[in-house]
Amino acid sequence: MSKPLAPTGLNLDEPLLWEMGNPGRTAFSMPRHDVPSAPLHDDFAGDGPDFPDLSEMGVIRHYTRLSQWNFGVDTGMYPLGSCTMKYNPKINEKVTQLRGFAALHPMLPAVMTQGALQLMAELERFLAEITAMDAVSLQPSAGAQGELAGMLLIHAYLGSRNIKRNKIIIPDTAHGTNPASAALCGYRPVRVASGEKGILIPDAVSRVMDEDTAGIMITNPNTLGLFEENIKEIARIIHDKGGQVYCDGANMNAVMGMVHMGNSGVDVLHLNLHKTFSAPHGGGGPGAGPVCVANHLAPFLPTPRIILKDGLYQLSEDFPQSVGRLHSFVGNFGVMIKAYAYILSMGAEGLKKASQLAVLNANYLKEKLKTFLHLPYDRPCMHECVFSDKFQRDQKITTLDMAKRLMDFGFHPPTIYFPLVVDGAIMIEPTETESLEEIDRFVEAFRIVTREALESPDLLRGAPKRCRVERLDETLAARRPCLMG
Ligand SMILES: *Cc1c(COP(=O)(O)O)cnc(C)c1O
Repeated sequence: MSKPLAPTGLNLDEPLLWEMGNPGRTAFSMPRHDVPSAPLHDDFAGDGPDFPDLSEMGVIRHYTRLSQWNFGVDTGMYPLGSCTMKYNPKINEKVTQLRGFAALHPMLPAVMTQGALQLMAELERFLAEITAMDAVSLQPSAGAQGELAGMLLIHAYLGSRNIKRNKIIIPDTAHGTNPASAALCGYRPVRVASGEKGILIPDAVSRVMDEDTAGIMITNPNTLGLFEENIKEIARIIHDKGGQVYCDGANMNAVMGMVHMGNSGVDVLHLNLHKTFSAPHGGGGPGAGPVCVANHLAPFLPTPRIILKDGLYQLSEDFPQSVGRLHSFVGNFGVMIKAYAYILSMGAEGLKKASQLAVLNANYLKEKLKTFLHLPYDRPCMHECVFSDKFQRDQKITTLDMAKRLMDFGFHPPTIYFPLVVDGAIMIEPTETESLEEIDRFVEAFRIVTREALESPDLLRGAPKRCRVERLDETLAARRPCLMG
């Protein structure tokens, strides 16, 4: 049985630069001067800024150690459910740094930016093919903005047909950003509960769908990591009453090459390039959340749109029904380059394989973990699985305690207390890029943690113990943030 990584004992503390060094110490050696000394001009005299006095080695070690405090996908397993923290091939970064891309000014005329425009036009085509949708805008800069774009599109489409509606149906297994995006567009979210299998039941949708409702926002696969098997029937119910179907496709990494969303009755869907298509993310971006639509919504897509006219790719504002601009220039172009490079290097078969492996890894993990963690929906999952702390409650050990303890074993904690439909949720997404040995190590760490919950619960309540800082008072941190260090 593989063992979790042991702490190394080389976990160094790091003072501020001002607390290090000695007066007069410098990081450079100047050659002896060969001109007479002269006093500084009055403008520059005085004490000057309080720079720390450090040697070159002191500076190098300081910043190198700080860089090692960071935990990322390149450091270890990061099974943060719903976030798809997978390995991002470094070649994609390199491509974005090609001078022709990196030094490109967004206001250059079309004749000088053909390569970039072509890349975006082709990326739109690839994403349309992957989702089986008709048209795409790459402009939204994140999933949540893609959702807002989708809501605006539905609103504009219904408006163009003089249809006024004020509600949107949102299942309890939707991503948390969905109701916020709908509300931002002026719609009132109407909650519908998922059934006992963790997916939506058509009858439940039927009961709330009416002619004041603009449509449904359905996360598929949903936040329980389950595929909404009734999507086609649900889409029919929505369409029969004149509504539109929005699919939150941020979890496309589970179904690439397997499910053609456009064929399941979806009118508009967003993707998260920074999750599925390999752009490093976390800590706030940058990302890209393209919206993909069926033909009837295409006239409303954000402008500028990329068109091919007289053999030249161009940006066009000439779409009178468009909802307008959502981002400066064309969106986060660097993220688009990475997605384009990723898709081309993987190819259709590669993308399909990535999804299959993501699903395989999650199901393997689920089967292993369910022997000591409570699995509320015990059925095949997609790319992630959701557990709860129910088995540990007698010991008064919570999801938070276990998540903190996992850090002592060198793992980033999973997503916790989300989705809300599961009390004390632990949402784990291993991704396709983790090896079997690494997943086994994670399982073993979790096995130890749940054993500790029984045998030495106080150890968990005080966790983490082997990290630089111990358990933080999160309430105090939120109420009185101290950002000065
Ligand atoms: C991550 C995620 C979002 C939000 O995406 P951001 O880029 O963080 O705004 C929306 N829906 C689902 C299902 C997600 O997993």
